[in-house]
Amino acid sequence: MAGMSLLDPFGRKVNYLRLSVTGRCNLRCSYCRPAGGDEAPTAGEILSDDDLLLLARTAVGLGIEKIRVTGGEPLVRKGVVGLLSRLAAIPGLKKLVLTTNGLHLKESAEALRRAGVESLNVSLDTLRPDRFARITGGGDLRRVVEGITRAQECGFPYIKINAVVMQGINDDEIEEFAALTLDRPLRVRFIEYMPAAAADRTHGITVPGEEILDRLSRRYRLLPMGKEELGGPARYFRIDGSAGAVGIITPVSCHFCGDCNRIRVTSGGVAKGCLFSLQDIDLKPFLRRGNAEGLRKALQDVVQGKPDRHLLSPEGFGGKPFAMSAVGG
Ligand code: SAM
Repeated sequence: MAGMSLLDPFGRKVNYLRLSVTGRCNLRCSYCRPAGGDEAPTAGEILSDDDLLLLARTAVGLGIEKIRVTGGEPLVRKGVVGLLSRLAAIPGLKKLVLTTNGLHLKESAEALRRAGVESLNVSLDTLRPDRFARITGGGDLRRVVEGITRAQECGFPYIKINAVVMQGINDDEIEEFAALTLDRPLRVRFIEYMPAAAADRTHGITVPGEEILDRLSRRYRLLPMGKEELGGPARYFRIDGSAGAVGIITPVSCHFCGDCNRIRVTSGGVAKGCLFSLQDIDLKPFLRRGNAEGLRKALQDVVQGKPDRHLLSPEGFGGKPFAMSAVGG
């Protein structure tokens, strides 16, 4: 089925699937989990390895070229390395990548590399241990930093650090984060906080990407870089003379929906054409019956149902509040 491609009604080629493999997480970031508790599905409700493989194979058969495994925290899923190596072996899949909070990275980096994970995104919002513990509900920053170092030693070519910038919470660390790229081949990406989860005491804390760039250009000379193939929505810059790169991801201030190439599936098997979509499609019935044809049709419907743009603004969005932890970010 080589050469298949998925086109949505707006002419966008969809070749990127974000696959959440668990709703569980070993951190409790306030902006990510549902208000008032953890709605993670229980083990029985999440897709099995076989479900995920059938789903991934079918998606690749339709034209998906890149899969990002996310969560919850993907590294808390039992047997995730085995799952990743089976995913990596799917013929036609060009890129298997993983997003993690890095807590388990030190001990699993080598196995992840061997399994065929091509690159890693590590979420990290602060470089200060006390602040990290506060934002994450008790996380140990040192483990994340050691995990990143270990992953570099294991040969992950460039590691992306994703920092969600929040006014009054960590926006005083932008320059320090950027400085990490001076002598290390890291890509530090500043992500606009999306008011989606909490309903919503937190709006007003989004820092627009342009403001982040303005601040950085006061300290550094920023040189724009080109877009990478199968890359995400980040706009990259290199600090003159640096080993790495900085980027901004602006889902709130500047929609990149025109270039959207992705669909998502939650750990419970619900497919979404947009992070903020109101039209979800449950894939479980097709997966449970091993109904590959029904699954193909459902995935095509998800692509056909992609909205032309999402309705997110710094004040929130029109839909029902949801937990990023359930969808995978
Ligand atoms: N546990 C993994 C991790 O920490 O990367 C993967 C899942 S997590 C839901 C994926 C990404 O979503 C993280 O980088 C997290 O910071 C981001 N995220 C969660 N809630 C967000 C929000 N309200 N606005 C922007 N990014 C958010």
